[in-house]
Amino acid sequence: MKKTVYLLFSLLIVLAVYVSGATAQGIPSLGTADALTLAEAAAALKVPGAAAPFVNLPDPDPLPPTLFGRLPYPSIAPVKLFDNLYFVGTTAVGAFVIDTGDGLVMLDTGINKDDAALMTEDMKKLGLDPSKIKLLLISHEHFDHYGGVQYLKKNVCPNAKVAMSLIGWNFLQTVPLEAGYINPRPQAVDIYLIDGMKIKVGNTTIQVVATPGHSAGCMSFIIPVTDKGEAHMAGIMGGTGVWATQLETRLYKASIEYFKAFAAAAKCDVGLGVHSLESDFAEVRVRKPGEAHPLVIGTEKFDTVYLQKYRDLYQYVLNSGKMQPYPGVVAPPGSAPAKE
Ligand SMILES: [Zn+2]
Repeated sequence: MKKTVYLLFSLLIVLAVYVSGATAQGIPSLGTADALTLAEAAAALKVPGAAAPFVNLPDPDPLPPTLFGRLPYPSIAPVKLFDNLYFVGTTAVGAFVIDTGDGLVMLDTGINKDDAALMTEDMKKLGLDPSKIKLLLISHEHFDHYGGVQYLKKNVCPNAKVAMSLIGWNFLQTVPLEAGYINPRPQAVDIYLIDGMKIKVGNTTIQVVATPGHSAGCMSFIIPVTDKGEAHMAGIMGGTGVWATQLETRLYKASIEYFKAFAAAAKCDVGLGVHSLESDFAEVRVRKPGEAHPLVIGTEKFDTVYLQKYRDLYQYVLNSGKMQPYPGVVAPPGSAPAKE
C-alpha cells in the first residue's frame, strides 16, 4: 500500500514537471532571466545527440484537396498592427512579422511554398525587406506553420536561423506525411525553443512559453509591441484548439493556465492568434486617428476574454467529444462549459 502511494506520488511529480515545464531548478523565471542573442541561443541550446537527423520525406503531390479546406487560400490584405508588428497571410493562416530595428523575426511560415511566396510579396507591400529576416520561429509542428520554411531559407532569407521545439523537430522526423504533417519540413533547426527562454533580436526580446496540448511541441510567445510609441505586450497562443481523441488535449487546459502566469508577469494586454481565421484585423484597418487601439484589451481581458476563448473551446471539445469547430476559436453558441 505504502509503495503504491509512493509510486502514485512520484508519478504526480513527474506529470507536474512535464506539464509545467519546470526544471530541476524549479519553475522557470517569469521575467528575470537574461535574454539570449541568436548566436547564444544557437550555441547554448543545441542539444548534442538529442535531435533526430533530418528525414527528407517526399513532398506529396498534389496536396489532398479535402485537407484543411480548399486550396489555394486567397491572401488577406497585409496589415501593420503595431509600430513593430505586422501580419501577412491568407484567409487560413498567416505569420506575424516583427521589425526589431535590426532585422525581422517571422513567426510561422504558412502552409507551403505558395504561401511563403505570397507572404514575402506582402511583406514588401508593407515596406519590409524579407531578406532581412533573421529568425524564423515555428510555433508548432503542423504543416500550416512550418510548410514555408524550406522556400524561405532557399529563396528569401538563407541566413535566417530556424527555431522550433526539440519535441516538434523530433516528432517531424518520424511521423508519416499525413494529416497535419504534410508538406516539406524544415531541413535543419538552429535553435531549439525551450520553456521560459528569451531571445533578443535587435531591440526586441521575445519570450517563449511551452504550451503542449494543441500539439506536443507547441510553443506560445510574448512579444513587446508599441502603438505610436506606447508600450504594450502581446501574448500569442501557439496553437488553436484541440481534438477530443488526443491525449495532449488534457495538457491543453494546463497550458492555458501556465501561459496565463507568464502573460500576467509580462503584463500582456494584447492577445493574438496564429490563424487569420481568428481575426482578419478588420478593426485595425478602419481605426481612425485618435481612436484607441482595438487590439489593446488590457491585462484583465487578456485572461477573461482572450484566454477564455481557448478555455471555452477546450471545454466544448471535451463536453461534446467532437473535434473543435475548426477553423476559428469561438465555441458554438449553447455549448455551455460544464462539468468535465
Ligand atoms: Zn496546429
